[in-house]
Amino acid sequence: MTTEGFVDPAPTPLALLLLGRGADPDSERGVECPGDLPVASDPGLVARARAAKAALGDRVFVLGHHYQRDEVIEFADVTGDSFKLARDAAARPDAEFIVFCGVHFMAESADILTDSSQAVILPDLAAGCSMADMAAIAQVEDAWDVLLDAGIADVTVPITYMNSTAAIKAFTGRHGGAVCTSSNAARALEWAFTMGQKVFFLPDQHLGRNTAVLERGLALGDCVVFDPHKPGGGLTADQLRAATMILWKGHCSVHGRFTATTVAEVRERVPGVTVLVHPECQHEVVLAADLVGSTEFIIRTIDAAPPGSSWAIGTELNLVKRLALAHPDKTIVFLDKSVCFCSTMNRIDLPHLVWTLENLLEGRVVNRIEVDPEVARWARIALDRMLALPGVSAVAKD
Ligand code: SF4
Repeated sequence: MTTEGFVDPAPTPLALLLLGRGADPDSERGVECPGDLPVASDPGLVARARAAKAALGDRVFVLGHHYQRDEVIEFADVTGDSFKLARDAAARPDAEFIVFCGVHFMAESADILTDSSQAVILPDLAAGCSMADMAAIAQVEDAWDVLLDAGIADVTVPITYMNSTAAIKAFTGRHGGAVCTSSNAARALEWAFTMGQKVFFLPDQHLGRNTAVLERGLALGDCVVFDPHKPGGGLTADQLRAATMILWKGHCSVHGRFTATTVAEVRERVPGVTVLVHPECQHEVVLAADLVGSTEFIIRTIDAAPPGSSWAIGTELNLVKRLALAHPDKTIVFLDKSVCFCSTMNRIDLPHLVWTLENLLEGRVVNRIEVDPEVARWARIALDRMLALPGVSAVAKD
């Protein structure tokens, strides 16, 4: 516990691959980084990062997601959620290199929204997203065949959360659907139900369920969960025909850890606490909390909170710790009693950032993320449908 007003949870072991070593080539995460990384204990890393960034000047633009480590955020030109960062990247056409300190699907979105002459770089290709990994394009194509066989594909609109691969976004675009963020999921559903009778929501079942039930007034019984690991998604054709929301069986391994019990425990630990959670949390957690909203909503809410107020926040730990540091006049605790970093976000560390910047300085573009042009075209259509929703541009910029 180093921050006034912040109660540091007790650490628990995390199953991390050694940073810079090893990866799962079958996953969204890609492959391990080539070349030698500086050692993490090198006391000159901060100075090296500063020197390389200064030497690159306006040629490089560094984006930092809210869940990134402090040591990386220090070098970010802008911070934000995934969609804001993709838009920020698109607003810098003069930058030759976009260094995306986040995870793989975010860098893909930045590549889709930026000019092809700009190189989008992910400092560690093993920084993926377990949620995005839960929906592979072949599985989703197979699921669509199941909907076709049930006779409902033509009345079903696919909506995919921003946290999905470019291939899934392109699938959504090809089948008349759109992308959404946690800020605009309700508007995306509202639009989808004007275009069809059912929504096929990918890949986060919790965001889909929470939005459908709490913001669109559907019943829990209107939602079914499609399990890609079971024949027919584990559902009968009649169940699919009766459902209004067909939720993909995916979740965030960070937000999915919180339970209703953790909410009850924090209320006992911190008298008068307001519990604020992200909509990627399980439905019962959202029901037990006081407030639910996107990362940007969480930041705005804490910024506007009165001095002396107490908050338990259910989102990624790096962000919660920074909020506590920025608001020493408020008591800010992490919702869980144990550590809940996003392990893949944490793969981007100072050695990887230094390695990336120094390679760029020496004329080597490393770890470039390039989306196939046809995939990018359809993904862009799905992203543009989101941007065309009423009020979405304004929300996306905040
Ligand atoms: S916090 Fe969850 S959704 Fe975000 S990158 Fe990590 S695993 Fe993916």
